[in-house]
Amino acid sequence: MPFPRFFSSIRNHVSHSKISWKSTGTVQKTLAAEISRSGTALHSGARTTAKLFPAMAGDGRFFVSGDCRTRILATVDFVTESALCTTLSRDGARVRTVEHLLSALEAIGVDNCGIEIVGGDEVPLLDGSASEWVEVIKEVGLCDAKDCSGNNMDKLAPFLHEHVHVWRKDSFIAAFPSSKVHITYGINFPKVPAIGCQWFSCFAMDASVYVKEIASSRTFCIYEEADKLLKAGLIQGGSMENAIVCSASTGWLNPPLRYDDEACRHKVLDLIGDLSLFARSGNQGLPVAHIIAYKGGHSLHTELVRLLSDSH
Ligand SMILES: [Zn+2]
Repeated sequence: MPFPRFFSSIRNHVSHSKISWKSTGTVQKTLAAEISRSGTALHSGARTTAKLFPAMAGDGRFFVSGDCRTRILATVDFVTESALCTTLSRDGARVRTVEHLLSALEAIGVDNCGIEIVGGDEVPLLDGSASEWVEVIKEVGLCDAKDCSGNNMDKLAPFLHEHVHVWRKDSFIAAFPSSKVHITYGINFPKVPAIGCQWFSCFAMDASVYVKEIASSRTFCIYEEADKLLKAGLIQGGSMENAIVCSASTGWLNPPLRYDDEACRHKVLDLIGDLSLFARSGNQGLPVAHIIAYKGGHSLHTELVRLLSDSH
């Protein structure tokens, strides 16, 4: 790898006081071949296909969407709304519900990858978790990504030096310096006793931990709130096959759960997908830090990424 190229790629990052980019000791990876998956999109209800294809070192992850095949980088700069899902937009094109796919790509280490969405503007929800994305990535495998000169590129990770936090009402996300990526998440639904208060904690960038403990946890929704969302034109593709649904009065409507604390684990899955939007140029997105979130959502997750990005 020519030193000047490597140096120029990190030049903008090293002077920042809260974050420093250091080598992970591995080179950037991409998919060994194309893969695709089709399914129902959560909000539109359309049947869409996501085609994943290899990309060059330094390209990072990006979507291709719309009639003009607009390229939208999977970075926080293109996040336009993030209430019930994370949406990326650019020049009139958009991609909704990117978080589960990005979570799997970040955790498994697919650093550079193009994703074309066909049939709509939303990533298919599949079973509401990231497990099918993990399966297809593992089926096809990874290879070293090359730049336009045929060279490998070192993969960098953002190390946090000082604690940072974002908060809104009684929700917060705080991040503290740590030697590994450690995520601790809490949720609290006092009016939905079957969920109640749950906490889950793990070392999220250990791929085997992600596959065993997080990837298969599914999207959840509260039955009494689903009607409002349907009337608002959202979750048109939501069903008992792609989400776990919990009633405030009668508990889980479509058991069995995959874990007792599946709802809380799914929040970790979402957080990883949203924090992956900090990634630049094929480097790691998740800050090397202990990240503690309580009652967060996509909007607060991406606010933390903005805070880290603005500090550059
Ligand atoms: Zn989710």
